[in-house]
Amino acid sequence: MQAGFEQPRTIEEATALLQKHGDAARPFAGGTDLLVQMRGGMRSPDILVDLKRIPELGQLEIGSDEIVIGAACSTASLRENAELVRLLPGLLEAAELIGSEQIQGRSSIGGNLCNASPAADSVPALVANSAVCSVAGPDGRRDVPAAEFSTGPGSTVLGSGELLVSLRVPRPAPDAGDAYLRFIPRSEMDIAVVGVGVALTLDADGTCTAARVALGAVGPTVIDATTAATALLGGPIDTAALERVSEAAREAARPIDDKRGTAAYRKHVAGVLTRRTVEIAARRAAEGN
Ligand SMILES: Cc1cc2nc3c(=O)[nH]c(=O)nc-3n(C[C@H](O)[C@H](O)[C@H](O)COP(=O)(O)OP(=O)(O)OC[C@H]3O[C@@H](n4cnc5c(N)ncnc54)[C@H](O)[C@@H]3O)c2cc1C
Repeated sequence: MQAGFEQPRTIEEATALLQKHGDAARPFAGGTDLLVQMRGGMRSPDILVDLKRIPELGQLEIGSDEIVIGAACSTASLRENAELVRLLPGLLEAAELIGSEQIQGRSSIGGNLCNASPAADSVPALVANSAVCSVAGPDGRRDVPAAEFSTGPGSTVLGSGELLVSLRVPRPAPDAGDAYLRFIPRSEMDIAVVGVGVALTLDADGTCTAARVALGAVGPTVIDATTAATALLGGPIDTAALERVSEAAREAARPIDDKRGTAAYRKHVAGVLTRRTVEIAARRAAEGN
């Protein structure tokens, strides 16, 4: 059976449709996950609720305190914004890794989060940058930290009738830098064996005053590796700090054995990749944004 297609123009209309149809309806953004899942028989919604005609979901605002990215913004549209690329190069390098040129014309940043794949590329970068999710539902709005949005593979905190409206990222300080690296077994279009997002701030002496490290594909949800972040604080990003953060990331990773690698291999890669990602973020912080 073919699914019906609704095109609400407001958030209220969309949440009302989602509530009315319950499990029979699915929000639809770019469809790059959802259509594949429908073709594969993993999902069979009766109604698709298209989110791309709702203006708030397509907004991109760079304010003096925070950056608001509409959930339905395509990953291609993000990289066209030079100021966003300058302020959050790590988030953009994560978004740019999603699929191919064609996929990026459709794939949304909100869909990447809502699909709740443990290997989703943008999520470690969102968590490292302390993004907050604005959620709308029949009872109004609520905020959820990006680090808490996914509750397991394919599941999120979204309740009946709820949708993700936008991601709000604190505007990085001038002496902050972020970075994202992933490891895949081949050079193109594959899913992360490990993905690492890092955001950190250095003061004028090079002392690390704030840090966040997030690990993807090494647990059922992205891991907010607080011990790794703590290993960077209070001193320079030198060889000893890089060794500490690498060891802490290895310890924080909780991977499984699967066809992309053994748990032991993934832990090792998590350590190596974290060190490299921290080095890039630190260089960017030192250069200023
Ligand atoms: C060939 C190919 C390669 C890919 N490569 C990568 C890759 O390298 N890295 C990677 O991370 N991903 C990859 N993906 C997966 C996919 O492109 C991303 O996850 C994409 O960002 C999903 O966005 P979308 O707008 O297409 O979501 P959709 O498919 O429209 O939706 C995905 C899920 O989220 C829900 N949803 C979407 N938006 C909202 C919202 N605002 N509120 C509530 N629920 C919502 C939908 O109901 C659905 O369950 C790839 C996919 C393909 C087909």
